[in-house]
Amino acid sequence: MSDSYWETPTQAASDGRRDQIILTGIEKSYGSLRVVGPIDLEVRQSEFLTLLGPSGSGKTTTLMMIAGLQLPSSGTIEIDGQDLTKVPPYRRNLGVMFQDYALFPHMTVGQNIAFPLKQRRLAKSAIAEQVREVADMVELGALLDRRIQDLSGGQRQRVALARTLVFKPKIVLMDEPLGALDRRLREQMQIEIKRIHDRLKTTFVVVTHDQDEALTMSDRVAVFNKGIIEQIGPVEELYSNPATAFVANFLGDNNNLVARCVETRNSHSCRVALTDDTVLETMAVGNICVGDDVTLTVRPESATLSKMPSQAVNQVRGELTDVIFHGDHWRVIVRLKNGASISVKVSDGGMIASLPPGSDVFVGIPPSKCRVFRAENEGDSNV
Ligand code: ADP
Ligand code: MG
Repeated sequence: MSDSYWETPTQAASDGRRDQIILTGIEKSYGSLRVVGPIDLEVRQSEFLTLLGPSGSGKTTTLMMIAGLQLPSSGTIEIDGQDLTKVPPYRRNLGVMFQDYALFPHMTVGQNIAFPLKQRRLAKSAIAEQVREVADMVELGALLDRRIQDLSGGQRQRVALARTLVFKPKIVLMDEPLGALDRRLREQMQIEIKRIHDRLKTTFVVVTHDQDEALTMSDRVAVFNKGIIEQIGPVEELYSNPATAFVANFLGDNNNLVARCVETRNSHSCRVALTDDTVLETMAVGNICVGDDVTLTVRPESATLSKMPSQAVNQVRGELTDVIFHGDHWRVIVRLKNGASISVKVSDGGMIASLPPGSDVFVGIPPSKCRVFRAENEGDSNV
């Protein structure tokens, strides 16, 4: 054993196979209503995977099926190479933490954390040692004798986390674990959970609807929409290379402009016309044909603002209508000739001071930074 019980990373199985969760063709229906699937999902050993999506997109149902608390209508769930599709939750040995924490209010912090170990009939001395170590890790060491009702929201969240981790599960599943906390505490806990993950190397599958949370904690993110996974990958990839308009808009801010494809260059780029016939060069995502109605997306930080036209391609003229202060930058809203508005991130305070509302301005949209998606495919998986 190493110095600390908690420093020992999860070992690969003796045959060298990595611990994994593999969902194949998973579907869940209630009556004739399919709420999840079909989805295929592979969770790698030791990774921090976030299931991100709007309310009702099937994240909790998917997590419940991994936990064994819901049975899929079809498909299989394999964990560590074993088909566990129909194995009850208590035999999966997963750490599961839900939003309401479900702590025992009449017990102390220490008794709550010890609960999973008592259930597993560990010796008293081993229980005391493991509770002490995990409590120190989440900074609850001084509160072991406190009652749950005398704790703050953040402390309760730590107790729930400690109780989830105390029996060293090789996989931890969490559903909106920070939902009950205020913003400051939530951000602090995101960093702490990430730190614990990096230290324990346990596989984490975490549900959230909060994109900042997903960005802070995850190695990879699976974006859910209407019961299916639109895209899965590292956050940077989803952010800079969204596969669908839904992903482009759900992760980070985006401007969406209505346009029509007027020329395809190759499989990755095309020219589109806005409704006022302004023509722009763009990157194309999916199979775009001439004549298709498309949605053009560009992030506020990718667009540029200038007072004078330049030689650069993709400059659109407009009228500055609003300036919104965001602390470390401004959001400038520009109304284009066709009536659409576009938001541009500006950090130059001098420029802001010299541009009162009503000013004539030019918005630059770098071709490599704007993408078009077929309009009818918005929210669809088959792009
Ligand atoms: P999320 O966690 O992404 O908000 P859920 O997985 O909780 O989404 O729910 C997905 C969809 O399944 C929702 O439309 C929800 O109303 C529906 N749903 C969940 N549980 C049931 C149930 N027991 N009966 C019928 N519909 C359900
Ligand atoms: Mg949910």
